[in-house]
Amino acid sequence: MVNVFVIGMAGSGKTTFIQRLNSELHRLKEKPYILNLDPAVHDVPYGANVDIRDSINYEKVMEEYGLGPNGAIMTSLNLFATKIDQVVDLVEKRQESHPYIIADTPGQIECFIWSASGQIITDAFATAGPTVIAYIVDTPRTTTPATFMSNMLYACSILYKTKLPMVIVFNKTDEQDAEFAKTWMTDFLVFQEALNKDGGDEEYMSSLMTSMSLVLEDFYNALDVVSVSSMTGQGFDKFLEVLDSKREEFKVNYEAERERMK
Ligand code: GDP
Ligand code: MG
Repeated sequence: MVNVFVIGMAGSGKTTFIQRLNSELHRLKEKPYILNLDPAVHDVPYGANVDIRDSINYEKVMEEYGLGPNGAIMTSLNLFATKIDQVVDLVEKRQESHPYIIADTPGQIECFIWSASGQIITDAFATAGPTVIAYIVDTPRTTTPATFMSNMLYACSILYKTKLPMVIVFNKTDEQDAEFAKTWMTDFLVFQEALNKDGGDEEYMSSLMTSMSLVLEDFYNALDVVSVSSMTGQGFDKFLEVLDSKREEFKVNYEAERERMK
């Protein structure tokens, strides 16, 4: 089995991705077990087996604690995290019949990634079994070198924060092919050229980029990249293949590390 946390900027297509993954897995007769961890979402287009909204009323949290939207998401996640042992128990009981456990996360990534509860939730799953992050990128909105780099740095910080294997999923490739991104990730000179062409103080940029390239190179090496369209279903077979290899990577690298830390 494998736990997949689907993370990405608001609007990148997390929910649509899960909806498509759900139907692909049903087609393969590998029914997934799905968790919705976004307390503020209105509709989920897949049947969630566990839904944070069943136990926590986001609007009430906002009212009762006098919180704004982000504060209420954090508080809802905190409340949910207090029950995470029960949730993980429940999920473990379903593992036999549901080899894929998939979690949708709040649109406000920072609420999930930079909060204590986000860490408690991902750790609880990672302790129970192989856990992988699928980082969803809105490909059509990442075509300028600057937005691309900020998105990759964000993903990079998530990798180091969660210490979990990560797959970068370039989504919406029905609208925008992701070849440009793959080139930028493998050929740093091409990326640097694109960045220079995009304007800005060249000298400052190129020295910043040179130091950044070392960080990003390490990061890119730790990753797998797939392009999909959650709209058409293109690329999901490849995603499942990569997920398999990431699960093995978790077993080799992460479980051993966790054993050592005990
Ligand atoms: P979330 O906020 O990350 O959960 O994003 P959603 O799944 O709600 O998707 C945001 C918007 O992107 C919606 O209008 C989706 O229809 C659209 N979308 C998601 N995936 C794709 C895709 O693969 N191709 C295209 N063209 N649009 C997509
Ligand atoms: Mg969503």
